[in-house]
Amino acid sequence: MEETVLVVVAHPDDQIFGPGGAIAKYAKEGKSVRTIIASYGEKSHPHFKQEVIRDIRVKESERADRLIGGKGIEYWGVREGKFASDFESMNLRERLIDVLETYKPVKIFTHARNETHPDHVAINSFVLSCYDEVAKNHEWFNPPVYTFTVWNYFRIKKRDVPRLIVDVSDTFRVKLAALSLFKSQIITMINLKWSVYLKAFVTGFRNNTSFAEEFYKVR
Ligand SMILES: [Zn+2]
Repeated sequence: MEETVLVVVAHPDDQIFGPGGAIAKYAKEGKSVRTIIASYGEKSHPHFKQEVIRDIRVKESERADRLIGGKGIEYWGVREGKFASDFESMNLRERLIDVLETYKPVKIFTHARNETHPDHVAINSFVLSCYDEVAKNHEWFNPPVYTFTVWNYFRIKKRDVPRLIVDVSDTFRVKLAALSLFKSQIITMINLKWSVYLKAFVTGFRNNTSFAEEFYKVR
């Protein structure tokens, strides 16, 4: 069986903004990259009908997933701002535990705890709590969990936790191309694309390569 890399994020496009270069690289190496997106991100466009936004954002995410070589996305349809209560009422704890036990991911990527967006923080604690439950029940379960930040680049504190640096020089262009597919997020994109570029460039420079992504290992 192909090794699985699991990505769990709050909104469509977080998976590309965060670990886009790394997961494109793992896919290129033959790993099976699976993504879970908790919310459709409908609130990003309050003027449109929610179903319309949902369709657009799903299409964008699917195209981006194909571009980075991913093996598919699972959508949970959680309401923004209501993550914790929806996780419970929709039995998503069981769902995620099932995914962890079935696919036995070799690496897991998710949002960092020190994020500014409350939905991102909610994902972080939910993933880690499900992870800990599986680890408690199965001795064989101990893949690393890596976290990333999307929104607070300039506020990252140097924390005393192990890091993973992934050289994404070969796949950084794919990441940028995948980001451009999120046309419905054009305003956000303009703000974020520069920071994505700068972040990968600075991290690359510090690690003697062109572009790199940096993650905190929290498990
Ligand atoms: Zn997000």
